[in-house]
Amino acid sequence: MFDTLTEGFKNAIGKIRFHDDEKSLKNATLELKKSLLKADVHHKVVKDLITVVEHDTKQNGIGKESFLRALQDELTSILTVKGNQGFVFASKPPTVVLMIGLQGSGKTTTTGKIAYFLKEQKKKKVLIVAADLQRLAAVEQLRQITAQIGVELVADEGATPASIVKSALQKAEQELYDVVLIDTAGRLAIDEELMDELSQIKKIADPDELFYVADAMTGQDAVRTAQTFKEKIGITGVILSKFDGDSKGGVALGLAQQVGVPLRFIGAGEKMPDLEQFLPERIVSRLMGAGDIESLAERTAAVIDEKQAKRLTQKIKKGAFNFNDFLEQLEQVKKLGSMKSILGMIPGMGSMAKQIGDMDLDKSDEMKRIKALISSMTPKERENPDLLTNSRKRRISAGAGLDQQQVNRILKQFTNASKMAKKLSTKGGMKQMQEMMGKMQGGGFPGLPR
Ligand code: GDP
Ligand code: MG
Repeated sequence: MFDTLTEGFKNAIGKIRFHDDEKSLKNATLELKKSLLKADVHHKVVKDLITVVEHDTKQNGIGKESFLRALQDELTSILTVKGNQGFVFASKPPTVVLMIGLQGSGKTTTTGKIAYFLKEQKKKKVLIVAADLQRLAAVEQLRQITAQIGVELVADEGATPASIVKSALQKAEQELYDVVLIDTAGRLAIDEELMDELSQIKKIADPDELFYVADAMTGQDAVRTAQTFKEKIGITGVILSKFDGDSKGGVALGLAQQVGVPLRFIGAGEKMPDLEQFLPERIVSRLMGAGDIESLAERTAAVIDEKQAKRLTQKIKKGAFNFNDFLEQLEQVKKLGSMKSILGMIPGMGSMAKQIGDMDLDKSDEMKRIKALISSMTPKERENPDLLTNSRKRRISAGAGLDQQQVNRILKQFTNASKMAKKLSTKGGMKQMQEMMGKMQGGGFPGLPR
């Protein structure tokens, strides 16, 4: 996500050669400046940042570590803006959130993502309101999203935005919803009519939060538009969408520094789980190339049912892992979101995430083959992989439309997966895994104490 910046930081720190070497500090700050500008950070922000980093590094004695510390502290301080962090619930439910922004910025998708996050991770009762009545397709889009994530929708193509918001709020009061998310219409550019409509909705909804959704790909434009929305309507948080694209990352710094409203979430993918809370320390850790194991752990915890996981572990230990469990596992992995956004959270894997692009597990040919294979098995065979004799394998491969070789390969994968799982489920195996992760974490910057 922040590859350009992370690369630049690495190069900059690499320029520092000896302790107390002023010349190498100059080289390092020049390199830093270059990479910040390249990543689309506003030149004023760059200038201030460089000045502070240079000053602090000198004060603590020039060296790789002091430079890194200074940079890390300054980035954290820029990204830490006064205001709420992550999602904050109102003291009296429901928490009402107005989603605003330009057309195509990702409001509707992000509305769905936040609802999914609140439902799955915070176990909240969420109501979505379709207040974008400019385009009929917008309501249909929300119908599909809410059906997919199992969240209630208030929609009425014949209503006005104001009336639909009113009735939705009544419903939320009566039926004790925790959160109401209001998706509004956007325009390609800012115009008076839109601002009037939004002001009116704001008056009626009296929202606890106004989230401005900014398309990260639009760079400095996103900053300017955010400023206008802030002046005309008022915003309490910014959400950066499409961070999985070619966004250079610098826009996050610009938004924080220039708009002065805290970033609350980052959207990095088209799927519902592809949303992360924007917590400055975590983001800076990722900026420094150290990954973000905490976010990954949170996402995993929300998706993986603990009871189910325990039952599975027992099975694995006994060597009773079967094809049904295998399918179940694949389904769970899918819920984690896109491969790209997951890899981005693992230390040292950021650049790999860039390379693999948007690999969609669900649509991959291999996934289709595995599903076809397992559905061609009888229930008994699914439960007991040992039953698979050659004649049964021939029947299954014919049924699944696969050749013998493909079938053997997938079965071998399955055997390896269950062997590996068995190994990991023992105490020693877990330790090995942890050591491996520890080494990966250490793969960030040299000399950075952890
Ligand atoms: P709205 O007009 O502001 O409601 O924008 P939409 O939510 O309809 O999004 C516009 C397009 O951007 C859709 O095709 C979305 O799938 C896509 N989109 C939204 N958020 C993201 C994101 O984080 N990553 C990517 N790759 N696409 C996104
Ligand atoms: Mg929309």
